[in-house]
Amino acid sequence: MSPEPLCSEAPACSLCGEPAVIHQRHAGRLLCGIHLIADLEHRVSGTIASQKQIVPGDCVAVALSGGKDSTALLLLLHRLFKSHNDIRFVAVTVDEGIDGYREATIRSAEGLARRLGVKHITVSFRELFGDSLDTILKDRETQACSICGILRKKALVKGAERAGATKLATGHNLDDEAQSVLMNVLRGDLMRLVRNSGADSGGRFIPRVKPLMYVQEKEIATYLVLQGIWSELPECPYAIHALRREVRSVLSGFEYRHPGTMLRLMENKKMIEAAFLGKTGGEPVGHCRECGDPCSGETCQLCQLRHSLGR
Ligand SMILES: [Zn+2]
Ligand SMILES: [Zn+2]
Repeated sequence: MSPEPLCSEAPACSLCGEPAVIHQRHAGRLLCGIHLIADLEHRVSGTIASQKQIVPGDCVAVALSGGKDSTALLLLLHRLFKSHNDIRFVAVTVDEGIDGYREATIRSAEGLARRLGVKHITVSFRELFGDSLDTILKDRETQACSICGILRKKALVKGAERAGATKLATGHNLDDEAQSVLMNVLRGDLMRLVRNSGADSGGRFIPRVKPLMYVQEKEIATYLVLQGIWSELPECPYAIHALRREVRSVLSGFEYRHPGTMLRLMENKKMIEAAFLGKTGGEPVGHCRECGDPCSGETCQLCQLRHSLGR
């Protein structure tokens, strides 16, 4: 039996032999920095083209929280489209009003937009809903993520409308999307899985697009490190209450032991969507009887939330 080498060399990029920075387990290959950047830009541009997420003439509102995903999204879009004069980008940041968390990420968002020369607007919960998230959540901390999610969605749409946007792009990555699929299955809420598709619903509201939906979180983190703009930002203090946190931990264990699990979950979602749309020809989208926003029931989630909060 030959002895283990005392000092093993850094693993090499499967394409060029330079030292690798990432192991893409699902694809069975290692990539160096240059090849990871090229691969991500190629895949994101493929997702955008195949789903017609961004087309000439679009003004794209990019949801920029200042965290990892949205930072990478704005950076990638800027690099991919900087020579396209017929496509405009506006960064939109939502200030939920979360003490000790938001300040740093808003500063980071402002800095990035300024550096890239992208117009930046901020909308706040206080201005739109009368109070900060911290105040709204008093004694309701365990529902934080679902309440914040509904309010933030509305705030982003308001920001996108103000910007005159024709599309709203968010930084949801493969991990987020696969977690959502699993969470909806665990909750027994298959309808929501289909509704969450982000597709346009009748032209009345701004279509949402997710250019990073097939990019893993660790690829995004490595991409930012390679671009020299990685910074450790605080985690949202309310995240400890979320079911998502548990699902995230289970799913990343699965992905590690069974590479490709997340992509297979997305395949499931696509198949369910296709079967569902095939049967009904698309769910007719109604309008909330209180505020007129598009929704699938009689009242939208935001109006239901307003009632339950007594506002
Ligand atoms: Zn390489
Ligand atoms: Zn409503």
